Amino acid sequence: MQGLMMNMPLMISSLIRHADRYHGDTEIVSRTIEGPIHRYTYADAHARSRRLARALVRLGVQASDRVGTLAWNGHRHFELYYGVSGMGAIVHTINPRLFLEQLAYIVGHAEDRLIFFDLTFVPLVQKLAPLCKGVKAWIALTDRTHLPTESIPGVLCYEDLLAAETDAYEWPEFDENTAAGLCYTSGTTGNPKGVLFSHRSTILHAFATCLPDAKGYSAQSVVLPIVPMFHVNAWGIPYSAPLVGAKIVFPGAGLDGKSLYEMFEREHVTSSAGVPTVWLGLIAYMKQNNLKFSTLEVTTIGGAAVPPAMMQTLRDDFGIRVMHGWGMTEMSPVGTIGSPKAKHRDISADERFRLALKQGRPLYGVDMKIVDPEGNELPRDGKSAGNVLVKGPWVLREYFRNEGGNPLTPDGWLPTGDVGTLDIDGYLQITDRSKDMIKSGGEWISSIELENIAVGHPAVVEAAVIGVRHPKWDERPLLFVVRKQGCDLTREAMLDFYCGKTAKWWIPDDVVFVDELPHTATGKLSKRTLREKYRDYALPTAPVAVRADD
Ligand code: ADP
Repeated sequence: MQGLMMNMPLMISSLIRHADRYHGDTEIVSRTIEGPIHRYTYADAHARSRRLARALVRLGVQASDRVGTLAWNGHRHFELYYGVSGMGAIVHTINPRLFLEQLAYIVGHAEDRLIFFDLTFVPLVQKLAPLCKGVKAWIALTDRTHLPTESIPGVLCYEDLLAAETDAYEWPEFDENTAAGLCYTSGTTGNPKGVLFSHRSTILHAFATCLPDAKGYSAQSVVLPIVPMFHVNAWGIPYSAPLVGAKIVFPGAGLDGKSLYEMFEREHVTSSAGVPTVWLGLIAYMKQNNLKFSTLEVTTIGGAAVPPAMMQTLRDDFGIRVMHGWGMTEMSPVGTIGSPKAKHRDISADERFRLALKQGRPLYGVDMKIVDPEGNELPRDGKSAGNVLVKGPWVLREYFRNEGGNPLTPDGWLPTGDVGTLDIDGYLQITDRSKDMIKSGGEWISSIELENIAVGHPAVVEAAVIGVRHPKWDERPLLFVVRKQGCDLTREAMLDFYCGKTAKWWIPDDVVFVDELPHTATGKLSKRTLREKYRDYALPTAPVAVRADD
């Protein structure tokens, strides 16, 4: 017997319609790329998303077409999230920090028909456009006055497109399992792979992440997502904020301490989210200028482990509650968030601190287990460390266009590539990573690619790259080299060899010359041995990375 309740598909458009109808005067504030602060309401955002949907139809976009974005966190990017997915197409948020060849590959693989870009990315688009023949039009997210004068083939003006439409548009209803968003993630080997979110997975993830023990958003919250909208949908905030009617503050490209602090204070932000690296910049700026937050209460920090000193500073010096989160693109991305239970009420301050440093416990909807290398489940005792496996309605089943084949275990779990412990209450502690990647400031670096370049040098016999702790970037690559006998390759010559072969911010921070590298019994390079020995290696203090937003 079937239940007798209405069968309504979970549609992304229903979020913005709800926010318009019940929180119509709640504000969305953005620092624009053109300069001024822009403010409007959910009602305005809904009207403009519908205009955009009409403009997309006029441009020939059809259901399931991919529409790319190269954009910061701002109101127009927000409209794209709703206009594109709402009309049945797929919003593909492109990470502009990738290098040109990767970007061209991703745009081609996704078969993006249109790409909307912020003015910051004009130089990038000029280089990218000739490599992306399938893209029918490049649309500048600006008005006619600011339209780039540089030559970009087929460039259109976003505000002109919207001005030519009315907002008379009814969101279509269709199967909730239809694809809504696409986001590429870097793999250990090979090309980036696409994670294709559905309307259903996005809405369920938005519901769960709003819960009090997760991000705890409500209609009283003022949320500033520092995490970019091109990074797993800003951890779902553009969907969860309208779900509860929270005010949103978009920081645009201003991710430095001063710009962020101004937005936090001026807009009375209560809740935020970002990777540890951005918090470091903000904390440093506030300490230098002897500043305090007047309204910020809580922030989610994830993407990398929260360093204990940061947790302590935010709590003791700034009175901020840190919700430590863990997840991955393949999980939409949130899997766990840290908050104590009733039974922890009387634990000591020290125990509470140690609990907060763990990566949190699973949200309803995510199931999790840890297994040994043979796939046997390990006890949930807080001590046994194993590969972390996950399952759930917002967890990936297969990559876009089946890249890489079936990623699941025979019994249907997704291996995360992380190693950790689980305790009896579900608190996860990440202890290591089995995927061979380094995470620097929230972005991935492939150690295998760096090793391949190193062994291309005529004086190198064998090379290995591991991530070591770095105070600003969380992890940076450290290169180990076994030199050919009689060769006097120097550190400088080795690092120079990388120039032009990879992005600058991928180049290792230091080189350690060794006589031999550790190997496992089966002859494989033992990165684990290296990581155990060198995890706290003191990297030189020279400027370490150059990135698009520096
Ligand atoms: P995101 O950065 O949004 O979490 P990615 O897919 O880029 O998504 O990266 C996911 C990976 O980042 C995880 O598999 C894990 O290795 C690492 N990671 C994420 N959050 C944490 C955390 N809180 N502690 C340690 N590692 C983390």
